[in-house]
Amino acid sequence: MALERTLSIIKPDATRRNLTGKIVAKFEDAGLRVVASKRIHLSPAQAGAFYAVHKERPFYGELVAQMSAEPVVVQVLEGEGAILKNREVMGATNPANAAEGTIRKEFALSIGENSVHGSDAPETAAQEIKFFFSDLEIVG
Ligand code: ADP
Ligand code: MG
Repeated sequence: MALERTLSIIKPDATRRNLTGKIVAKFEDAGLRVVASKRIHLSPAQAGAFYAVHKERPFYGELVAQMSAEPVVVQVLEGEGAILKNREVMGATNPANAAEGTIRKEFALSIGENSVHGSDAPETAAQEIKFFFSDLEIVG
Protein backbone atom coordinates (compact mmCIF):
# COMPACT_ATOMS: atom_id res chain seq x y z
CA MET A 1 0.00 0.00 0.00
CA ALA A 2 1.21 3.49 -0.80
CA LEU A 3 1.83 6.38 1.55
CA GLU A 4 -1.02 8.81 0.84
CA ARG A 5 -2.32 12.18 1.96
CA THR A 6 -5.98 13.07 2.35
CA LEU A 7 -7.94 16.15 3.37
CA SER A 8 -10.01 16.09 6.54
CA ILE A 9 -12.39 18.75 7.84
CA ILE A 10 -13.73 18.72 11.38
CA LYS A 11 -17.09 20.36 10.74
CA PRO A 12 -18.82 23.15 12.73
CA ASP A 13 -21.16 20.76 14.57
CA ALA A 14 -18.06 19.12 16.08
CA THR A 15 -15.91 22.21 16.75
CA ARG A 16 -18.95 23.78 18.45
CA ARG A 17 -19.22 20.82 20.83
CA ASN A 18 -15.48 20.90 21.61
CA LEU A 19 -14.84 17.52 19.95
CA THR A 20 -11.71 18.46 17.98
CA GLY A 21 -9.30 16.57 20.26
CA LYS A 22 -11.45 13.45 20.48
CA ILE A 23 -11.74 13.32 16.69
CA VAL A 24 -8.01 13.86 16.11
CA ALA A 25 -7.35 11.02 18.59
CA LYS A 26 -9.45 8.72 16.36
CA PHE A 27 -7.24 9.58 13.37
CA GLU A 28 -4.02 9.10 15.32
CA ASP A 29 -5.18 5.83 16.89
CA ALA A 30 -5.82 4.53 13.35
CA GLY A 31 -2.23 5.35 12.34
CA LEU A 32 -3.01 8.56 10.47
CA ARG A 33 -0.56 11.42 11.06
CA VAL A 34 -1.61 15.09 11.10
CA VAL A 35 0.92 16.76 8.77
CA ALA A 36 -0.96 20.08 8.42
CA SER A 37 -3.69 21.69 10.51
CA LYS A 38 -5.51 25.00 10.85
CA ARG A 39 -8.72 26.36 12.32
CA ILE A 40 -10.56 28.68 9.95
CA HIS A 41 -14.02 30.19 9.48
CA LEU A 42 -15.19 29.62 5.90
CA SER A 43 -17.29 32.25 4.16
CA PRO A 44 -20.43 31.00 2.39
CA ALA A 45 -18.64 31.56 -0.94
CA GLN A 46 -15.64 29.46 0.16
CA ALA A 47 -17.84 26.65 1.50
CA GLY A 48 -19.88 26.77 -1.71
CA ALA A 49 -16.75 26.52 -3.85
CA PHE A 50 -15.39 23.61 -1.82
CA TYR A 51 -18.66 21.67 -2.21
CA ALA A 52 -19.30 22.79 -5.83
CA VAL A 53 -19.56 19.12 -6.88
CA HIS A 54 -22.83 18.96 -4.91
CA LYS A 55 -24.29 22.17 -6.42
CA GLU A 56 -27.30 20.47 -7.95
CA ARG A 57 -28.18 18.39 -4.88
CA PRO A 58 -31.23 19.42 -2.79
CA PHE A 59 -29.14 19.71 0.39
CA TYR A 60 -26.49 22.04 -1.11
CA GLY A 61 -27.85 25.26 0.44
CA GLU A 62 -28.14 23.69 3.88
CA LEU A 63 -24.65 22.17 3.58
CA VAL A 64 -23.07 25.52 2.62
CA ALA A 65 -24.92 27.29 5.46
CA GLN A 66 -23.80 24.70 8.03
CA MET A 67 -20.18 24.65 6.84
CA SER A 68 -19.87 28.44 7.03
CA ALA A 69 -21.82 28.92 10.28
CA GLU A 70 -18.89 28.40 12.65
CA PRO A 71 -15.18 27.51 12.52
CA VAL A 72 -13.82 24.28 11.06
CA VAL A 73 -10.48 22.54 11.52
CA VAL A 74 -8.92 21.53 8.20
CA GLN A 75 -6.13 18.98 8.25
CA VAL A 76 -3.95 16.92 5.97
CA LEU A 77 -3.70 13.32 7.18
CA GLU A 78 -0.87 11.09 6.01
CA GLY A 79 -0.46 7.34 6.19
CA GLU A 80 -0.48 4.03 4.34
CA GLY A 81 -3.71 3.98 2.34
CA ALA A 82 -4.75 7.18 4.14
CA ILE A 83 -7.69 8.03 1.85
CA LEU A 84 -9.60 4.79 2.43
CA LYS A 85 -8.44 4.48 6.03
CA ASN A 86 -9.81 7.93 6.85
CA ARG A 87 -13.15 7.03 5.25
CA GLU A 88 -13.27 3.92 7.44
CA VAL A 89 -12.51 5.90 10.60
CA MET A 90 -15.19 8.47 9.62
CA GLY A 91 -17.96 5.93 9.01
CA ALA A 92 -20.94 6.15 6.66
CA THR A 93 -22.35 9.55 5.63
CA ASN A 94 -25.59 8.83 7.49
CA PRO A 95 -24.71 8.14 11.15
CA ALA A 96 -27.66 5.73 11.30
CA ASN A 97 -25.63 3.48 8.96
CA ALA A 98 -22.19 4.10 10.49
CA ALA A 99 -20.28 1.21 12.07
CA GLU A 100 -19.55 1.02 15.80
CA GLY A 101 -16.45 2.95 16.86
CA THR A 102 -16.49 5.31 13.88
CA ILE A 103 -16.45 9.09 14.31
CA ARG A 104 -19.88 9.54 12.75
CA LYS A 105 -21.43 6.76 14.84
CA GLU A 106 -20.10 8.34 18.04
CA PHE A 107 -20.44 12.03 17.30
CA ALA A 108 -22.62 12.90 14.26
CA LEU A 109 -25.94 14.64 14.88
CA SER A 110 -27.57 13.88 11.52
CA ILE A 111 -26.78 13.04 7.89
CA GLY A 112 -26.04 16.74 7.31
CA GLU A 113 -24.27 17.57 10.57
CA ASN A 114 -22.01 14.54 10.45
CA SER A 115 -18.91 15.97 12.15
CA VAL A 116 -16.24 15.27 9.50
CA HIS A 117 -15.40 15.54 5.82
CA GLY A 118 -12.84 13.28 4.15
CA SER A 119 -11.61 13.10 0.55
CA ASP A 120 -13.01 10.13 -1.37
CA ALA A 121 -10.29 9.38 -3.99
CA PRO A 122 -6.67 10.28 -4.89
CA GLU A 123 -7.74 12.97 -7.40
CA THR A 124 -10.14 14.69 -5.02
CA ALA A 125 -7.61 14.42 -2.17
CA ALA A 126 -4.96 16.26 -4.21
CA GLN A 127 -7.48 18.88 -5.30
CA GLU A 128 -8.93 19.42 -1.80
CA ILE A 129 -5.50 19.63 -0.12
CA LYS A 130 -4.56 22.34 -2.64
CA PHE A 131 -7.80 24.21 -1.88
CA PHE A 132 -6.66 24.81 1.71
CA PHE A 133 -2.88 24.39 1.97
CA SER A 134 0.29 25.48 0.22
CA ASP A 135 3.22 23.02 0.07
CA LEU A 136 5.02 25.06 2.73
CA GLU A 137 2.23 24.41 5.24
CA ILE A 138 2.44 20.61 4.96
CA VAL A 139 5.23 19.10 7.04
CA GLY A 140 5.44 15.30 6.93
P1 ADP B 1 -19.45 12.23 2.48
O1 ADP B 1 -19.22 13.44 3.36
O2 ADP B 1 -19.63 10.98 3.28
O3 ADP B 1 -18.41 12.07 1.40
P2 ADP B 1 -21.26 13.20 0.38
O4 ADP B 1 -20.04 13.58 -0.38
O5 ADP B 1 -22.28 12.35 -0.31
O6 ADP B 1 -20.88 12.45 1.76
O7 ADP B 1 -22.03 14.50 0.88
C1 ADP B 1 -21.30 15.62 1.36
C2 ADP B 1 -21.96 16.13 2.62
O8 ADP B 1 -23.26 16.63 2.29
C3 ADP B 1 -22.24 15.08 3.71
O9 ADP B 1 -21.11 14.80 4.51
C4 ADP B 1 -23.35 15.74 4.48
O10 ADP B 1 -22.87 16.76 5.35
C5 ADP B 1 -24.17 16.39 3.37
N1 ADP B 1 -25.24 15.50 2.92
C6 ADP B 1 -25.12 14.40 2.12
N2 ADP B 1 -26.30 13.80 1.90
C7 ADP B 1 -27.23 14.56 2.56
C8 ADP B 1 -28.65 14.48 2.72
N3 ADP B 1 -29.36 13.50 2.16
N4 ADP B 1 -29.26 15.43 3.50
C9 ADP B 1 -28.55 16.43 4.07
N5 ADP B 1 -27.20 16.56 3.94
C10 ADP B 1 -26.54 15.65 3.22
MG1 MG C 1 -17.98 13.29 -0.22
